[in-house]
Amino acid sequence: MPNNKFLNDLKFLAESGVYEFVNDATKNYYTREKQRIPNANKGSDLSDLSKIKTLEELKNSIASFDKCDLKNISNTTVFSDGNPDSNIMLIGEAPGKDEDIQGKPFVGKAGKLLDKMLAAIDLNRTNVYITNILPWRPPGNRQPTLKEIILCLPFVQRHIEIINPKLLILLGGTASKALLMSDSGIMRLQGKWHSYSSYGLANPILTRAIFHPAFLLRSPSYKKLAWEDLLTIQKEIKK
Ligand code: URA
Repeated sequence: MPNNKFLNDLKFLAESGVYEFVNDATKNYYTREKQRIPNANKGSDLSDLSKIKTLEELKNSIASFDKCDLKNISNTTVFSDGNPDSNIMLIGEAPGKDEDIQGKPFVGKAGKLLDKMLAAIDLNRTNVYITNILPWRPPGNRQPTLKEIILCLPFVQRHIEIINPKLLILLGGTASKALLMSDSGIMRLQGKWHSYSSYGLANPILTRAIFHPAFLLRSPSYKKLAWEDLLTIQKEIKK
């Protein structure tokens, strides 16, 4: 008998428009979405993402992608910040107001806290690489919709494949649920190790899901748990 978790996972995938299994290939998500989205053939073709080998190509491909409405209402495409040669890749949710103005992830209030969290374990933007699940700002900083996440996920998956880090740090529930394909929230996903795989990766990547700094600004009592995650990450890095 399938258990509840399994059924919930399937429901999450079905609601996301995913009808193939996770490791089939990145393009499968989009192939299905494409049938559901008008004008899906305009602009860059997500089914071709495996041909993209460099960050520059990926950036151009995102810039020419015209299926996500957020692009039309944001000022800029926020691609990444930090060191692309790093073994540590952080993934947040989506740009906010400051990021949309400056074109870089995590430059506002949450970014200042993220910098402090990183500094506490001897990390900074010269030794980590940072991006988001969405490259465009959702209006009013609302949460990304499932459709927006599914549309942009192949880019993030390819981004991870190109960087190919040894350690992935997912900031908050949106990035964690999307990349770990989980219906559990961040409360359950933080505090433990996970493994991230995708079709274009030779090996799974060790992954930690931690509280998003914006959440910690709103709910500082969770900083203790975040600190424990950071110390575990530091131990792993020093191994
Ligand atoms: N929150 C995010 O998740 N990403 C940013 O870039 C800024 C705020």
